Amino acid sequence: MKHIDEAKINSLLKIVPEAKEVEKILEKTKQLKRLTLEESATLLAVTDPGLLKKVYAAASYVKDTIYGRRVVLFIPLYISNICANGCVYCGFNVNNKVTVRKHLSLEQIKQQTEILLKRGHKRILMLAGEAPSTKDNIDYYVDAVKAIYSAEYKGSKIKRVNINVAPMKVEDFKRLKAAGIGTYQLFQETYHDATYRKLHIAGPKMDPDKRLDAIDDAFAAGIDDVGIGPLLGLYDHRFEILAMLMHIEYLEKKYGIGPHTISVPRIEPAPGSEYADNPEHPLTDEEFKKLVAVLRLSVPYTGIIMSTRETPEMRDELVNLGVSQVSAESKVTPGGYEEEDEHNKHNDRQFSLNDQRSLDEIAQSLLGQGYLPSFCAACYRKNRTGEHFMDMAKPGEIKHMCDINALVTLKEYLEDFAKPDVKEKGYKLIEEYKNKLDAQSLELLEKFFKNIDNGVRDEYV
Ligand code: SAM
Ligand code: SF4
Repeated sequence: MKHIDEAKINSLLKIVPEAKEVEKILEKTKQLKRLTLEESATLLAVTDPGLLKKVYAAASYVKDTIYGRRVVLFIPLYISNICANGCVYCGFNVNNKVTVRKHLSLEQIKQQTEILLKRGHKRILMLAGEAPSTKDNIDYYVDAVKAIYSAEYKGSKIKRVNINVAPMKVEDFKRLKAAGIGTYQLFQETYHDATYRKLHIAGPKMDPDKRLDAIDDAFAAGIDDVGIGPLLGLYDHRFEILAMLMHIEYLEKKYGIGPHTISVPRIEPAPGSEYADNPEHPLTDEEFKKLVAVLRLSVPYTGIIMSTRETPEMRDELVNLGVSQVSAESKVTPGGYEEEDEHNKHNDRQFSLNDQRSLDEIAQSLLGQGYLPSFCAACYRKNRTGEHFMDMAKPGEIKHMCDINALVTLKEYLEDFAKPDVKEKGYKLIEEYKNKLDAQSLELLEKFFKNIDNGVRDEYV
């Protein structure tokens, strides 16, 4: 596979970590410096419980120092599950006869978005299968993004639409950028060439190099926030993490910046997929936690996304180890937000989910851990993307703005959507955070807060 040196990764996987070396690497992470592949491989190989504890503490430190205590919330919106690809692990794959196929109309997409706005959501990840020869083409995607942005509920609108759809031509990426997408997300699934070819048995996704090229094409189209990730469970997870870091090194070298976000989805059972029920390389919760912590330390300025594939307990732990964005109350089926209690009965979902909590319950749990649920999209709206974002993120400058924006969006959420006990908890935390702000930031925050009390919404720095 392009950009991926399997022999090098295999040799890195043989590293036996020495305590002294691990301590040295952890010392380096305190300066918020990017790690080398060798250093990441060393940390990934740590099994000693005492050392592992130190790895977790370091990840927590890096997360808090760069991102503060905010956690961004988003929700996926599936617009179609028609797919021409044969990804053996996915409920939408072309050979899966049990899947009921659905393609939402623009009106339905708008309605789904209105449902999400009513619950307080502000950030959407739009997803679809890959069916270029049907009506799921670039025109549909562009119109779908516009439909999402056009939806409105009591004056509130979606602030940012990220997308996770199949690769496309540079001209098509340009059209999506013009429609206002934030991040273009695309998972390589597995960076191991032979495994990739074995598991993708039909359709345009069969070629692993073309899939890798899509990230370059998105950059070429001027989309400078990209999201990447492996689907964990398909091959050795340590190989996947090192290979993804190698992919990041390639992007950094070529474009001066790496991905805006990385995702580490773990494979879940999927209707009609025997493979998904018994993946070849399942990983334990301990291994999973370790790889999230190592990623936080390896690429300190890259957002880490965690989906509702993980359990509430696991997600709560992972925000301490470096996760900066979480999804909430997701449905992985087109039109899923209307069928409140029907979710698990239907054979049109992509895979199973393990966190069914409502947005308010997730907000409550984050607040309980001292985290600020954030609905902010200010960077994207102020063009602080790509290199510009990284320049600000690196000296830690972004953190102050993020804290203010997170507090403003949290207050709006508490006022407009939260249940009374969540509201009480939220305001208590806001007061604690106010004490940590410098005089100038506090003055600005109080001005915004006063405006919210007077009915103004959606202010940001
Ligand atoms: N069809 C496009 C594609 O494959 O790039 C869009 C994304 S697909 C709707 C979103 C992601 O779901 C895939 O990239 C894959 O990593 C993940 N996925 C597929 N089957 C899964 C399963 N059984 N468990 C967990 N995640 C799965
Ligand atoms: Fe289609 Fe994406 Fe599922 Fe593959 S992972 S079958 S491309 S929806």
